[in-house]
Amino acid sequence: MGDAASWIERDAAAVWHGFTQMSCYGDNRPVIVERAEGRELIDVDGNRYLDAISSLWVTTLGHRVPELDQAVRDQLDRVAHSTLLGNGNTAVIELAEALAPRVPVDDPRFLFASDGAAAVEQALKIAFQYWTNRGVTDRTRYLAFGGAYHGDTIGSLAVGDGGFGTDVFDPLRFPVLRAPSLGDPDGVDTAVALLREHGPQLAAVVLEPLVQGAAGMALHDPAAVRAVAEAAAAHDVLVIHDEVATGFGRTGTLFATEQCGTRPDLLVLGKGITGGYLPMSVTVANRRVWEAFLGPDLSERTFYHGHSYSGNALAAAVALRHLQLVDEWDVLADVGARAAQLADALATRVAPLPQVREVRQQGLMVGVELDPPADGLRWGRRVSAGCVDRGVLIRPLGDVVVLMPPLTTTAEEIDRIVDALVASIGDLT
Ligand SMILES: *Cc1c(COP(=O)(O)O)cnc(C)c1O
Repeated sequence: MGDAASWIERDAAAVWHGFTQMSCYGDNRPVIVERAEGRELIDVDGNRYLDAISSLWVTTLGHRVPELDQAVRDQLDRVAHSTLLGNGNTAVIELAEALAPRVPVDDPRFLFASDGAAAVEQALKIAFQYWTNRGVTDRTRYLAFGGAYHGDTIGSLAVGDGGFGTDVFDPLRFPVLRAPSLGDPDGVDTAVALLREHGPQLAAVVLEPLVQGAAGMALHDPAAVRAVAEAAAAHDVLVIHDEVATGFGRTGTLFATEQCGTRPDLLVLGKGITGGYLPMSVTVANRRVWEAFLGPDLSERTFYHGHSYSGNALAAAVALRHLQLVDEWDVLADVGARAAQLADALATRVAPLPQVREVRQQGLMVGVELDPPADGLRWGRRVSAGCVDRGVLIRPLGDVVVLMPPLTTTAEEIDRIVDALVASIGDLT
C-alpha cells in the first residue's frame, strides 16, 4: 500500500508505457493497480474499479479466479517452461487437443507464440511460404481492409491500416492491397474485385471477422465474411482470420467465425486464450496449409520460425483450464444475457443522448461513438476519466468509448457501467 502520487512518480521514472506519452503520464491520473478481486481492480490507495475493458480485452472470467490460480500453481509444481523447438510439453499437447475440436479450422495444427502480433506475423509468413513450398513464387502479396488492426510488429503493422500515431512507420510497412472496411457500403464488392483482379499474386487475405475492435468496434455482417471467403476460394487465395480480439466468447460464440459459417485456412488467437492470465497466442493452420510444410528432415519446406517462449507451459495449463471453465460455467449463456441487457440499456439511456453519434455492439464488445462539436475536445478521454472517477475503468479509442466487461460480468455491474457512462457523458455539458 502507499499513496498513488509516489507510485506514479516511481512509475514514470522507470517504466515506459506503450501507446502513452510519458511526458504527461502522471497528469492523466493513471490507476496504479496493486491487486484485484473478481472483476474489480484495486489501486494502491484501496480504491476499487470495475474492469470494464477487461484489461485491454484479455480478461474473460475475471481476476484471481480460484480455478485458474490453481491451474498455474499445479503447473508450477511440474515445470514452468520448456522449449517447443524440436521437443514437446504435456501441458501444450493437452491444450492443443482440447482446442482442436473447438476451433473453426479443418484438421487444425497449432503453432504457439506469446502475443497476438507475433501470431499474426506467423500467419503471414506461413501463407507466404505455403506458396513457395508448392513452387509458386509470385504469390507474394496480401489483401487487407480499411480500419484493420493486427498488432504492432512491422509485418502486422503492414497489414493493419495505420492510425493511432503509427503513420511514422509507413516507410517500413510493405505494400498491401486494401479494400474498404467490410462494413463500408462498397467494402465487399471492392474486396471481391481485388481478389478477381489480383488473385494470382495474392498469398492471402487477412480479416477480423464480425468486429474490427481497434477501429472502434466497426461491425460487418457474416455475409460479408462469406462473400470474401467464396471469392478467395475461387481464386485460390488463403484466408486468415484474426480473432485475437473476437475469440473466446467475446462476440457471443466461442469464435466469431462460427457465426459466419466459414472455415479459414489460418486462424489467429490471442488475448482471451489464457483468460487474461499469461501471454499466449497461437496460429492455427488447416490440413491443406500444414501438409505443404511436410518434407525431408532439415529441408527447405520446414517453417524456420519460432519464439523463445512459444508454448509456455504455465500459459498452456491456464489456457486449458480456462477453456474447460467456459464450458462448465456455461459462460456463453451469460454473455448472451448480459449482452442483451447492455444493448437494452444503451438503446434507452445512451443512444438518445445528443452527445452520442452511434452505439455499436456485438456480444460484449461495445463502442459508444461520441459526437463532439469540434476537434480537439478530447471527449473520449474526458468521459473515460469521468467513469474512472466513478469507479469504472474505461479506456477510449479516440472519441469512441469502449465497453468490454469480462464475460462473467453481472447484471448489477452492467448497470454500474451504464450509470457511470451516462453520468460522465452528462458532465460534458
Ligand atoms: C490486440 C490485437 C492484436 C495484437 O495482439 P497483441 O497481443 O497486442 O500483440 C492483433 N489483432 C487484433 C484483432 C487485436 O485486437
